[in-house]
Amino acid sequence: MSTSRVRARSDSSRSAGDARHELRNYRLDERIGQEELATVYRAAHLTLDRPVHVHILRRTDWISSSRFQLAGRLAARLDHPNLLPVIDAGHDDRYGDYMVTPLLDAQRLDQVLADGPLEPLMALRIATQVAAALDYLHGQQVIHRDVQPANILVNPQRVAYLFNLSLAASPDTPDLSSIDEADYLTPYSAPEQRLDQGEASPTLDIYSLGAVIYAMLSGETPPAPGSAPPMLASRNPTFGGVDRVLQRMMAEHPDVRFATATAAITSLRQALRAHIDLATEDMEESNWDASADWLENPLETVMGDALTDEFKEYIARAHKRADDLHRRNAIRLLLNRWSRKGNFRRVALGQLIQPEQIVSYNIYFFELRTHYETRTIPQTKQRAQKDGERSSTFSAPLDVWDVDVPAATTFDMVKPQDLVLPNSIRVFKCPDCGGVSMVQCQTCRGKGTISRVSKVRNPDNTVSQETLERECPTCRGYGKQKCSRCEGNGNLVEEQVFTWSRRARLWQNSDDLEGLPSLALQQRAEAIYTAPIDPYAGRWHSVAPLSELLRAAIAEVGDQTRLIAAELSIRAAPITEIDYQLNEKPHRLFIVGHDNEVIGDWTLLNMERIALFVVGAALILVVVIAILLMMFN
Ligand SMILES: [Zn+2]
Ligand SMILES: [Zn+2]
Repeated sequence: MSTSRVRARSDSSRSAGDARHELRNYRLDERIGQEELATVYRAAHLTLDRPVHVHILRRTDWISSSRFQLAGRLAARLDHPNLLPVIDAGHDDRYGDYMVTPLLDAQRLDQVLADGPLEPLMALRIATQVAAALDYLHGQQVIHRDVQPANILVNPQRVAYLFNLSLAASPDTPDLSSIDEADYLTPYSAPEQRLDQGEASPTLDIYSLGAVIYAMLSGETPPAPGSAPPMLASRNPTFGGVDRVLQRMMAEHPDVRFATATAAITSLRQALRAHIDLATEDMEESNWDASADWLENPLETVMGDALTDEFKEYIARAHKRADDLHRRNAIRLLLNRWSRKGNFRRVALGQLIQPEQIVSYNIYFFELRTHYETRTIPQTKQRAQKDGERSSTFSAPLDVWDVDVPAATTFDMVKPQDLVLPNSIRVFKCPDCGGVSMVQCQTCRGKGTISRVSKVRNPDNTVSQETLERECPTCRGYGKQKCSRCEGNGNLVEEQVFTWSRRARLWQNSDDLEGLPSLALQQRAEAIYTAPIDPYAGRWHSVAPLSELLRAAIAEVGDQTRLIAAELSIRAAPITEIDYQLNEKPHRLFIVGHDNEVIGDWTLLNMERIALFVVGAALILVVVIAILLMMFN
């Protein structure tokens, strides 16, 4: 990059107030600042007179130029309320590459933080919006890789916008591996962050989001990547829960971080419940039940970048359901509604039950389809030579697993069938006929005739026996017959034959259902994931019920059997457990599924009404029997 060109460009900008300074459809009014890659002008669209920001690339090296173009290209095809939109981008002969964004009445978050830490609820609000933008980007296979306060705008209405996709990893990212990473790592970068494309995972952005949350709540720059941030609880005891969330978001090992940005924010919101409760009613998420908790399933952590849109959508819905139930009075209202819907239900259950603990989580059901192929140890077999068959030229036969068999179709079943090992054919002279293809006739023992004794009546009426020689019917007098072993060929073939087959198996397991309403959960479980998996990949083995399945499936594998495909299907249902005391005894009830079915023990029932009904029914029965008896007497 040449310094003189940069200077030349900023010189031209100094007089940009001039009407002559036009870039395509834009009038450049005022140079207002400089970004890493671009000089920013306040400008106006010439015909629409709409105020905008025009960003003009100020560096001329190819990496800066391709990063700038990437940022424009990506932003143009993305659309999310918390991503700063790019209105226009292109190349101008005089000014070079440019990009146009709307002129917002907004401040960069790093400038906001210069005045000190944010109120917890303000921080939560900004984090929630940035998380939504990140989950959207990740769904589009885009990893931002540069989430930091300098790349977040906040307007007076507290709307946050994430911007600057110039370091993003996406399928069309240029190769950035040649640039010096040290220049692009910030205190907000995950410790494992690299700029080569293969390594990018959403967990990079989740780390950075955690670091941004730390900065918002502490007003301080986070420590060097990989070292745990100082405990926020030491300055504010109510931040103990927040520390736990941040430790997970900023964990050194990416697998420990949350699966999605939104899942992290759900935990953060739980951790900040005390603050939310104190807040004014303009916060929509006010009034949490103090004893309510969300339990994350290990699967949700492990899924990471394997999380599909369907799965994400389900988790978002499950979180929303839990959020709704965990609001103060929500369970009371739900139980009262339930009471009103049945005659034998205890009246005003919501007033009666005082929840001591409310816990919501997801139950997962796993189904693993496996496809096995078996190839037996080859056996030596002999048969007659076929026309033109010769011994294999190579003496060493292939391994059975190197032999091409028909390609597998999805979990098809193939009955055991024989296959000759290539290169294993040996042709040799038939030992029975010595290679001449004929053997002595078995019927006549080579004589060509057979003797037959018959009775002959002599002219004098005596009967005598006469031996007659007749042509042998088998060889027709030839004395020889075709050799049966070589089928008259003279040669035999010895070859190695193995048997191969394929079969599919289905394995099922679920999270521990003991003590839970398993039937209701089964009925409500919805399919959220189906994909081929590598059954040996470590991530799947860190979820206990799934690991059990996989180990059973892998146990079928041996010297002669291989696992050629595995497909995992996951179904899920949400559940909320409510512990309560009634008559000084502990009880538990469940709210199951998105339809919030209430399931519990007898304490939910109106025993008096049931007793009355039983007595009433018994009385009617007695009267009917009495009438019948009178009629028949
Ligand atoms: Zn023979
Ligand atoms: Zn014969």
